[in-house]
Amino acid sequence: MPLAVVTGCAGFIGSHLVERLLRSGYAVRGIDRRSPAGGDPEARFNLSGALRHPGFELHVGDLLELDLPPILAGADYILHLAARPGVRGGWGDDFDAYVRDNLLATQRLLRACTGTGVRRLVLASTSAVYGAAPPPQRERGPTRPLSPYGVTKLAAEQLVRMYGRQHGLRWTILRYFTVYGPRQRPDMAFRRMLADAQAGRPVRVYGDGSQVRDFTYVDDVVAATVLAMRLPQAAGKTLNVAGGSPVSLREALAVLGEVVGRSPRVVHVPPTSGEMAVTRAAMDRTRECLGWQPRVGLAEGLSRQWTWLQRRLLQDGLPAERDEDPEDRGPGRTRWEEPGAAGTGWGEGEGEEHG
Ligand code: NAD
Repeated sequence: MPLAVVTGCAGFIGSHLVERLLRSGYAVRGIDRRSPAGGDPEARFNLSGALRHPGFELHVGDLLELDLPPILAGADYILHLAARPGVRGGWGDDFDAYVRDNLLATQRLLRACTGTGVRRLVLASTSAVYGAAPPPQRERGPTRPLSPYGVTKLAAEQLVRMYGRQHGLRWTILRYFTVYGPRQRPDMAFRRMLADAQAGRPVRVYGDGSQVRDFTYVDDVVAATVLAMRLPQAAGKTLNVAGGSPVSLREALAVLGEVVGRSPRVVHVPPTSGEMAVTRAAMDRTRECLGWQPRVGLAEGLSRQWTWLQRRLLQDGLPAERDEDPEDRGPGRTRWEEPGAAGTGWGEGEGEEHG
């Protein structure tokens, strides 16, 4: 039975990837510093399926502290998803945390991989490395990050390539574009917007809503990741992974309104730094290399996320439906506000990913 090691296994994408690998007959060792046994409900819910599977082994700890060689021993594949995401953070003292989780942790993992005979390391990178590069963003085109997150992820990419050149590591780098679906991180836009719509709260939008994102459903991301891990032609390649139907925030909110059955009330706040105006991936290289196509469109994907969120709220003991103030109903009451602490935004909340 082939063995895959997944870092960031308690996270949004990592937990889906673990389940998919287990279903496909892989043994999986997961690494994450978030423990399902601790007071972290996200980690507990995300890992509840995997922990029931006999093929899954969880290693709780920080990549910078764990004794990695025994965990990596015998691994055929390493899928490196652990990171500190979010394009809004890192402008102050928290820059250290981005360097630590995105760069130092990656370097420690790469060092531990050297000489182990691992068949492939896949790095989860991000569209945030493109930053100010004009759309469509191409893998061999310019990278001009606009955020500390983008800079540290781009540096992690370079580290991976360097270990390939210097130590013969076989790698694939995937640049995910704004991933959504069940288990999406609580700070991310759709998760917050759906929760706000559910509670009858206004949905906060940074800027005028004209920003465009190439949303990608999580199952599609996982399918592309497994293909990239296994296919020989993906070795040494950097590939975009995107939904392929970019839409503006305004368009996405209209879809979200249809999914939840009521138009969200929108409050506009000034845009923040770090965000890209448009993400639109060039997908020809990925299609050619992986033979992969995204399957889930925005309406279907949001509807699945909405169904999941309602169940999740019930598990938290919160009512799945809440009466809305009739005064609040309907779109159109928009105004500019100073950004507040708990921003519900398009790109990024506290640590929200748009990359
Ligand atoms: P997530 O925060 O849900 O998962 C990341 C996990 O990594 C967390 O559970 C965290 O505890 C763990 N982690 C971080 N640093 C660690 C360390 N030093 N040691 C041990 N564990 C550590 O994030 P996600 O949204 O699932 O993103 C997964 C990957 O995909 C990241 O590499 C991210 O940069 C990339 N990505 C995500 C998106 C997106 O839209 N979600 C888009 C582009 C790229």
